[in-house]
Amino acid sequence: MAEAVLDEQTRIADELREMREILSVAQVVVSSLDLDEVLHVILCGAMAIMETPAGSIALYDESVSSVHLRVHAGLSDEFATKNRWLVKEGGLTHHILEQGGLFVVEDTDKAEFFKNPIAIGEGIRSLIAVPLKIQDKIVGILYVDDFKPRRFQEHRLRALNILASFASMSINNAQLYAETQKLACTDGLTGIYNHRQFKQMLFEELSRAKRYNKKMAVIMLDIDNFKLFNDSYGHPAGDKVLAALGCLLKKTLRDSDFAFRYGGEEFMAILPETGITSAVAAANRIAAAIRENSHHFLAEITPDQKITVSIGVVVYPRDGADEVSLLHVVDDMLYKAKASGKDRVCFRKKLSDAE
Ligand code: GH3
Ligand code: MG
Ligand code: MG
Repeated sequence: MAEAVLDEQTRIADELREMREILSVAQVVVSSLDLDEVLHVILCGAMAIMETPAGSIALYDESVSSVHLRVHAGLSDEFATKNRWLVKEGGLTHHILEQGGLFVVEDTDKAEFFKNPIAIGEGIRSLIAVPLKIQDKIVGILYVDDFKPRRFQEHRLRALNILASFASMSINNAQLYAETQKLACTDGLTGIYNHRQFKQMLFEELSRAKRYNKKMAVIMLDIDNFKLFNDSYGHPAGDKVLAALGCLLKKTLRDSDFAFRYGGEEFMAILPETGITSAVAAANRIAAAIRENSHHFLAEITPDQKITVSIGVVVYPRDGADEVSLLHVVDDMLYKAKASGKDRVCFRKKLSDAE
């Protein structure tokens, strides 16, 4: 009888300790937007509750069937180096994903699917894996590992499930936050960066150019006679042209360059570490790509017509030392391209150009 009371007291003390652990983890979950920090705190909470010396949280990408280690504790550097793996038919991860719920291995020697050489090399002998779900979709796996065979108590597993739901929630929040961030800097019609992002990146890239003593080019592009196009073929047709142009601009630039929709039918590009010769060549490439591809995107509108653009080009520090002066000059150059007949690229000629 006295023993039963003692057992009950131990269980209550245990559950109280778990509750405290869960509460302290919850405080971090609601107060931080840093996914790595949150997942690390959740993992440490899970290891404390299950009294295991090691564990990890991996994210799962269903579209490519791959798992990516995000945080870990108590495991070797070698384990962390191999931080991305594909789900193999019949392997441990495959079993965990298939089962979809709490997955307990009390002794890995007795689990014939446990044959991952890195996990074996790590000395893992027992583990619990909890698939992390958002609605019904698995987005990750929380693992706690021990280096000896183990049995795990039921009430602890319940607490582990609560922590796993925190991890799912945090991953969901982080994904929603990333999507919102992306939407905030993207133009809805063309899918490229918007005006706000241009201002931000111009500042950042210019600061970088100044710091490292590098050149940087800005290209400004405006569609020729676009009002007439809209008036002739309608605004929705004009929108199609803008979307195609955004796509073409991005495709024509290098991966290290950035394309933006600056305003209505005006686009910008920032080309880091680029001098005037290369920038003018890039601008000519863009103009040619638009001219030569217009029959594709005008196919259902007016295939015989061509869309042309006028372009201004400036380079830091050659044409200006700050954002305001560079934008002023690039606008001037665009105006010059328009005034001298459109469908052309203009930049400030300098006798001192050594390029
Ligand atoms: P220019 O060759 O001198 O640039 O002449 P333009 O007609 O292109 O220039 P203007 O600035 O007079 O007109 C720009 C036109 O761009 C007017 C507007 O109808 C059109 N435009 C701006 N934003 C959008 C948009 O989001 N969708 C569509 N379809 N048209 C737009
Ligand atoms: Mg315009
Ligand atoms: Mg125009």
